[in-house]
Amino acid sequence: MATHILDAMSREGFEEVLAVHDARSGLRAFLAIHDSSAGPAFGGVRRWAYEDEDGALRDALRLARAMTYKCALAGLPAGGAKMTILDRGGLDLPAAYRAVGDLAERLAGRWCAGPDVGTGEAELRALAARTRHATDPGPSGPGELVESTVEGVFRGLLAALEHLDGEADLPRRSIVVQGLGEVGAGLARRLVARGARVRASDLDSARARAISHELEIELVDPATEFDQRCDVFAPCALGGILHDLSIARLRCRVVAGGANNVLARHAHGERLHERGILFAPDFVLNAGALVRGALFHLEGRREPVAAIGDRVAATTARILDRARAEGWAPSRVAIEEAEDVLAERRARRV
Ligand code: NAD
Repeated sequence: MATHILDAMSREGFEEVLAVHDARSGLRAFLAIHDSSAGPAFGGVRRWAYEDEDGALRDALRLARAMTYKCALAGLPAGGAKMTILDRGGLDLPAAYRAVGDLAERLAGRWCAGPDVGTGEAELRALAARTRHATDPGPSGPGELVESTVEGVFRGLLAALEHLDGEADLPRRSIVVQGLGEVGAGLARRLVARGARVRASDLDSARARAISHELEIELVDPATEFDQRCDVFAPCALGGILHDLSIARLRCRVVAGGANNVLARHAHGERLHERGILFAPDFVLNAGALVRGALFHLEGRREPVAAIGDRVAATTARILDRARAEGWAPSRVAIEEAEDVLAERRARRV
């Protein structure tokens, strides 16, 4: 177990962390609620084969705080949360997700549960059968949420290129997409349709082959992802991949992708800046699904995907312009803006 959980909570402004156990289904999970002071704390349920409790707890904390930042920068009257389920097999999935739904109901709207890795349409349905406090994916299922994410990442990437060179000019760009899952494949599809030269990688070689065949793009060996010379490196796989060693290997001008918490530590945003690589912060670019889900939950309206792209592009351009004006790393500007929003909320509460 993390030994200093209360220290971490007070240092990073967490409201509450719940350890959840349901003997009937075998559910073992953590729910981290980072901030529900301005409205519901939105956060998906991640089900993963975590090595141990510590890993699951740390993931919940990291991801919940990033959700608060996403809400703050997207101007949503809401905060962030995340549930992580330790799945080492043997879970009664429908019963486990019903138990998660019961918990959301008991929390009476402080937490609004949503999809994440391991929580797709079937799991969300089991959860939503027990509570009103769940993201409604829309008439055609969670694919609609992913589309919003993909559009946001695409438009944020274009905004980063425009910021750098005055125009996106995709036909002259080479882009390496790391991870061809839902977000990476969606991004690659949009980039290819606009004429960019896309290369990509995925650890799942069958998936990589299928998408490369569909889009007629070149595959790169995942072991060489960071070494590829390109205009944009687009991380769309796991978090924590940008650290001292990988940053030293990068041969791109821009990092812009959809993966959550792509920097191993905040300081790695500064490392990218020092290397002259423009980093479009992940929690700005990948907020699309959150924005769409939250606006439906809060206001009952489904924001068109194109409008979500406009929002993300505008926020990205604002952050990058301010970073240039101040001479700061964009990640520092984005974190500072999000922290300012939180400080204002706290001041209003006193
Ligand atoms: P996914 O599971 O569909 O796809 C991830 C893919 O990355 C998998 O195919 C996996 O094999 C591959 N992968 C893992 N490590 C790799 C590596 N080192 N090199 C190459 N490929 C690798 O997940 P997704 O829904 O596409 O999400 C991708 C990222 O975007 C995640 O970090 C997720 O948290 C983030 N994100 C997703 C959404 C969404 O709406 N789905 C929203 C916000 C953020």
